[in-house]
Amino acid sequence: MEKIRAASAQLSPGWCPRTLRKGHNGPVRILLVEDDAAVAASSIDGLTALGHQTEHVMTGAAALEAATRFDAPDVILLDLGLPDMDGQEVCRRIRALCETPIIVVSARGDEADRVIALELGADDYLVKPFGMRELAARIRAVVRRSQAAPAPTSAGTVQEIGRLTIDRRTQRVHLDGAEVALTAKEFDVLAYLAEDPGAVRRRNEILEHVWEGHWYGATKTVDAHVAAIRKKLGDSAWIEAVRGVGFRLGAPE
Ligand code: CA
Repeated sequence: MEKIRAASAQLSPGWCPRTLRKGHNGPVRILLVEDDAAVAASSIDGLTALGHQTEHVMTGAAALEAATRFDAPDVILLDLGLPDMDGQEVCRRIRALCETPIIVVSARGDEADRVIALELGADDYLVKPFGMRELAARIRAVVRRSQAAPAPTSAGTVQEIGRLTIDRRTQRVHLDGAEVALTAKEFDVLAYLAEDPGAVRRRNEILEHVWEGHWYGATKTVDAHVAAIRKKLGDSAWIEAVRGVGFRLGAPE
């Protein structure tokens, strides 16, 4: 992902800025990509009732145009079955250009489709038919995660996640004020997951980021480190395993 961000930063005319401002409390601006007029109409009604501003497009090409222009949306709801191109391709292309949260909304609900969408950079996945309350909750969650993401250069800053404190400068971790003794690699795994709490990091991403390609074992290396971190934090709920994808960090309920 870092490579994609670095590459897209050079595409200055086309790439869209991160659109969510810190402390953004106004209506969420939603881009709805849906070719079924009836589904779109009911979604727009529901989103409007929730106080969101919705722009509706019916093709992948229109979605790419709307997602990357100057006044880009805050959240993109993306149908996979589109008339001009596959939604997965739309997802991949948007993600190569900007970080706007994408929620895939699809009738295709099997695990393979969900995994592919997440691999392509989608932030969440909702299977049709869905209720407006569930959609509203998913939108709130991606907006919250997007706003909570720290600045990319966080060297020297102390990050707090619930009862957990991570200091990247001193490489020390505290839980309820007591230091947690992590190995260097365990710290790196935890710090990497903490860069975007709630976001799923794939095993391969973690391997590439923490071991920088200098690893010879299987992805089981990641699982072993995650297990060690969980044990030291005293609660496995800190790091959730997302079946078939990877791991995400979050404060236990
Ligand atoms: Ca469709």
